[in-house]
Amino acid sequence: MREALETLVLNPASALTAAVAYGMMLRSGATFGSLLNPWGLSLPLWVAGYLAVRMALLGFVDGFVWALAPRLPALPSRVGPKPVFQHKINATDVAYLVVNSTVEYVFALQISHLLWFAPLVVRAPTSLSLLNGPLAFWMLLVVDDMLYAPLHRAMHLQAVYRWVHKHHHRNTFPARGYIDAANEHPVEQIAALCLHWVAVHVVAHTAGLHVAAVLAHFGVKALGACFNHTGYDVQLRFCGIEYSVRAHETHHRKPNTNFAQYVMFWDKLMGTYKEYESGVKASAAAAATPANLSKPDAARLPAWADPAVEAREGRVTERPQPRAG
Ligand SMILES: [Zn+2]
Ligand SMILES: [Zn+2]
Repeated sequence: MREALETLVLNPASALTAAVAYGMMLRSGATFGSLLNPWGLSLPLWVAGYLAVRMALLGFVDGFVWALAPRLPALPSRVGPKPVFQHKINATDVAYLVVNSTVEYVFALQISHLLWFAPLVVRAPTSLSLLNGPLAFWMLLVVDDMLYAPLHRAMHLQAVYRWVHKHHHRNTFPARGYIDAANEHPVEQIAALCLHWVAVHVVAHTAGLHVAAVLAHFGVKALGACFNHTGYDVQLRFCGIEYSVRAHETHHRKPNTNFAQYVMFWDKLMGTYKEYESGVKASAAAAATPANLSKPDAARLPAWADPAVEAREGRVTERPQPRAG
């Protein structure tokens, strides 16, 4: 619990996020209450809403995974003779998941309020068109990832990495779906949802935006994030949208590649795109013995991970950096 509190509170990224949020609230005249509770719900209703959103999201996202998983092939990296290690869930993970579920709920309240009242969103079913429906949905994916991929890349900069994004990379082979997807520092969650908010506004002011496009984008994003943190081989390609679990697994294994999630064009533009490799050597499959089944294959770990610690403790730990000079 100490680790959770320290990384949440004694953290320059948290301080910066709080300062920016406070500054924006002062500028817009919004109160902390209106930020957390835009619908003005009573406390019992707010809590009931939290539980309902949690159940709906878990039911929808995990329900989909459970329903589809038996029909899906496993990623080639997960079927080799060596076991895939999982970082054990600790108190920090649980604390982050609880905070992030609250952040998600507040975001759901804010975006539902926006969709219900904002003049820039088209709501009438008869006003759905090719432009504000399918094209807007496509644009949401493209614009959202255009903003997210550079942010993700910035979170990997050496000076920034350990404060925020390192936590999400504890798992080299994420497998728990929603839990591994949402297991990130809350600053990262808040930043990504702000970019989602910006993308909604960019599309609304350009193509026009029907509420159906926003809901479809939200559903695809929730499912995509969830499947990205499983071992199932899901791929989706249409009109420049390029989603595959392979790409995000590659990112977890080789962290300076594949920063985008739905539109790999942005990585190709930044020169950070990396094709998927299973990491399982053909010779390793043949050489599998009960003794080496308990050791992770160093080739299947990212370069900075220490395979000895991963084998002993079932989690990834950074290899000590050699001292310069
Ligand atoms: Zn991830
Ligand atoms: Zn990353």
